[in-house]
Amino acid sequence: QRNKECPLDKDELGKNTWGFLHTMAAYYPDNPTPQQKNDMKSFFNSFSQFYPCEVCAKDFQQELRLQPPNVENQKGLTKWLCDMHNIVNVKLGKQSFDCNRVNERWKDGWLDGSCN
Ligand code: FAD
Repeated sequence: QRNKECPLDKDELGKNTWGFLHTMAAYYPDNPTPQQKNDMKSFFNSFSQFYPCEVCAKDFQQELRLQPPNVENQKGLTKWLCDMHNIVNVKLGKQSFDCNRVNERWKDGWLDGSCN
């Protein structure tokens, strides 16, 4: 039986990282200060340099150049991140996620109450 506490493979790392990133975006302020906007931009730039999957990081850097993070408010950031994740989903042949439901998935829980 495989030890449960092993180094993360690419998919485990990805799943955990998306969980963190979407949750962080979900709690980004509705009215961020100029400092918070700058810090969030810097966060994604640094993140894309150090994400420990080389092909993932390279492609993500390229996407960031084409479409820089929308750091204006919570709505903008969550939508931008959802779009970024969908670009990866499409690349990997996975289904796209409905970005209208991103707050249900990562903040409030599904409207049917199944997360209560
Ligand atoms: P994940 O894609 O990890 O998604 C986890 C959960 O997020 C899903 O179950 C769903 O509920 C929710 N979700 C799905 N799509 C969205 C969305 N658009 N918005 C909000 N929530 C959503 N893997 C590679 O093989 N090649 C790569 O180039 C690559 N690049 C990556 C770049 C980044 C920045 C990250 C964080 C990960 C990358 N990965 C890459 C990993 C890949 O995206 C998946 O995490 C991995 O394949 C595991 O997929 P999964 O099916 O468990 O679901």
